Amino acid sequence: MNTIQMQDREAAGIFARELERQRYKLNLIASENYVSPAVLEAQASIMTNKYAEGYPGARWYHGCEHVDEIEKLALSRAKAIFDAEHVNVQPHSGAQANLAVYYALLEEHDTILAMHINHGGHLTHGTKQNFSGRWYKAVFYGVSIAAETIDMEEVGSIALKSRPKLIVAGASAYPRAIDFKAFREVADEVGAYLVTDIAHIAGLVAAGLHNDPVPYADVVTTTTHKTLRGPRGAMIMCREKYAKAIDRAVFPGVQSGPFMHTIAAKAVAFGEALKPEFRDYQAQILANAGRLAKGFAAERFRLVSGGTDNHLILIDLTGEGITGVEAADILNEAGIIVNKNSIPFDEKPPSVTSGIRIGTPAVTTRGMREKEMDMLVGMVSRVIRNKSDEGIRQEVRREVRNLCEKFPIYP
Ligand code: PLP
Repeated sequence: MNTIQMQDREAAGIFARELERQRYKLNLIASENYVSPAVLEAQASIMTNKYAEGYPGARWYHGCEHVDEIEKLALSRAKAIFDAEHVNVQPHSGAQANLAVYYALLEEHDTILAMHINHGGHLTHGTKQNFSGRWYKAVFYGVSIAAETIDMEEVGSIALKSRPKLIVAGASAYPRAIDFKAFREVADEVGAYLVTDIAHIAGLVAAGLHNDPVPYADVVTTTTHKTLRGPRGAMIMCREKYAKAIDRAVFPGVQSGPFMHTIAAKAVAFGEALKPEFRDYQAQILANAGRLAKGFAAERFRLVSGGTDNHLILIDLTGEGITGVEAADILNEAGIIVNKNSIPFDEKPPSVTSGIRIGTPAVTTRGMREKEMDMLVGMVSRVIRNKSDEGIRQEVRREVRNLCEKFPIYP
């Protein structure tokens, strides 16, 4: 940052304040992480200077020989991680990856069946404010009232009634394992494409610690920046028979110039994901989430679905006399960052919510383990249960800072 410091003090000041925030606050946002210094370097590299519309060996610009090499490296590593037949690493984001997939497989007004956003699905899974709900007819499944898990029989009967052309399996706020094989069976029964969006759980899938969608799905989309711990971006994996349609949908369908610096950073991150330590990291994410679930349950908080199988938990605050947004606000004051989150059948609007979502990928990257998760449970509980006590927030803020000093983001 020295050059920016010398050239542009105003921007440098903002960077410095954000670094301070990342260093000394505890990040429990389930969709965030800290990339390695190597991924950060790749993302900030000279690869940003190059235009490369097209694909390796078939570009619309000259001078692409080295960006071709880096894109091919990203592709071969992604294939090796997920055992995918075909990969496209160009989508700028998860939303754009999903856009490209629908663009490749659907016509306007076709029916898609996906998880409702209020039950844990994503905006791009048919929400009416999003292109996916505006251009396609979206039908939804959710979780059952009793178990708060996806009821595959219900998914099957909704599919039989609505005859979707495409079914999406995947979520942004679902603490349980997803049965991709069962989704395949439903898709086969109604002749639908199966698209799995593993944005959140990609790292767990890569490490073999979550059901693998690749053998069952026609297309798999994922972001690269969540549990996978790569740069902000996405990729699409698919069976060979959809390769052309998917590639054409990404470029020239919905994107033009790919972000070659981001693709370079994806290559470096995928190299990290192929190392044995990556599996240990993912196993610790799971162990930490399990420990948080146990700790919050012992403190008598109600967890949606009673616990977790993955990297996140959802806490229902209905009985605590505090809304999701209030809890997230006061936790932030105490140096702990979480999302407010709707819980299934939430009576409060999405801007308020009755729940919070807590995830372990980022704190696990810092090196925290079960002992620190126990401390976290104590800190979160104290803040939420003493919402009018400013002093408690100050006290927790100091404890958070001490903990962060012991577990630096870039040692
Ligand atoms: N799909 C799922 C399941 C997600 O959780 C997200 C992001 O939270 C996305 C897609 C979209 O990713 P992006 O924010 O990169 O567009």
